[in-house]
Amino acid sequence: MFCTESYKGFLFGRNDQDKEYVGFATLPNQVHRKSVKKGFDFTLMVAGESGLGKSTLVNSLFLTDLYKDRKLLNAEERITQTVEITKHTVDIEEKGVKLKLTIVDTPGFGDAVNNTECWKSVADYIDQQFEQYFRDESGLNRKNIQDNRVHCCLYFISPFGHGLRPLDVEFMKALHEKVNIVPVLAKADTLTPAEVKKKKIKIREEIEQYGIKIYQFPDCDSDEDEDFKQQDQELKDSIPFAVIGSNTVVEAKGKRVRGRLYPWGIVEVENPAHCDFVKLRNMLVRSHMQDLKDVTRETHYENYRAHCIQSMTRMVVKERNRNKLTRESGTDFPIPMVPGVTDTETEKLIREKDEEVRHSPSREPHEQMQHHEQHSEPEPRVDPHSEPPPSADPHSKGS
Ligand code: GDP
Repeated sequence: MFCTESYKGFLFGRNDQDKEYVGFATLPNQVHRKSVKKGFDFTLMVAGESGLGKSTLVNSLFLTDLYKDRKLLNAEERITQTVEITKHTVDIEEKGVKLKLTIVDTPGFGDAVNNTECWKSVADYIDQQFEQYFRDESGLNRKNIQDNRVHCCLYFISPFGHGLRPLDVEFMKALHEKVNIVPVLAKADTLTPAEVKKKKIKIREEIEQYGIKIYQFPDCDSDEDEDFKQQDQELKDSIPFAVIGSNTVVEAKGKRVRGRLYPWGIVEVENPAHCDFVKLRNMLVRSHMQDLKDVTRETHYENYRAHCIQSMTRMVVKERNRNKLTRESGTDFPIPMVPGVTDTETEKLIREKDEEVRHSPSREPHEQMQHHEQHSEPEPRVDPHSEPPPSADPHSKGS
């Protein structure tokens, strides 16, 4: 015991009758207060062919107008258009909780006549954000790192095709190890409920068939109540979310709602009987935002980081080996790398050359010595105490 009971009482502000209570039960409150004070951030990417309703959906999701100054290109301009990445940031506040929301858009994706590798600039953008974070994290001032890593990518699938198009498969496969992909079936109001159901099944099958790893919702804890488990299962079965977006408010059954007015009726964005918009918004904002951020940090960023460290280590080892060989070969020039020849091939060539030199009958004694030195560790170039190679002539020892 290092402190008396009365001191403990003073320390924890408790009296003797509830001395069992230490106080760490307030830890969640402390974390909560700190996080609320700091605010939250979330970066959402939207990708898919233009005209599928990406901007309309983002505006509907966050009740903002993020695309005020958007310039739409005409058909001629789009022929040769390359994918550009644009970023919009808004600060939203709800009940004192601040969220810095960044939307990354990919205008031009899939618009050109030739869309070969048009996912590349999107992949590069995601990598650049990882790289920036990696640099900041390895730097001196790690306190105020701006985290621009992409936490989720909503990938818009056209409602007019038969399942996935080749470009969809290519995009998702190229990015599934870098970002959490959440597929959505765009403009679901253009399909009947039966068509939506059929398309969803087809898309899910194709995702499985092509080995695309979309964002996986975490498993439910076994002690969760049945209602929660059922909701969770419904969420998992909704993939790809069939969505409808609208920037206009219409009147339906005496209520003003976000919707689309057609001659035959009104499609309500937030009506669960009409589409999965609410499910998607709840998933993104209410239930899985933190998990999306955790998976980004723990899986996608970790993969990037491990890859970076691996290639840095490989470079250092290569450089060290090259310096060693340069010193041992007695020249100051680095060994020229054979163009188009890989490291292992270069090593093989060096080994073959070694063998050739070893078996050459015209070897001079000093050459034999040099050859031995190439394999001795560490590498004293002229070490009077070094042992001669087993095959070397004993008379050459002192040379
Ligand atoms: P983006 O190029 O992917 O950002 O697409 P936009 O959001 O600019 O939408 C393109 C057009 O589709 C606009 O005329 C929208 O009004 C319309 N649109 C957007 N969302 C929907 C939807 O859910 N259903 C239907 N039928 N049209 C939509």
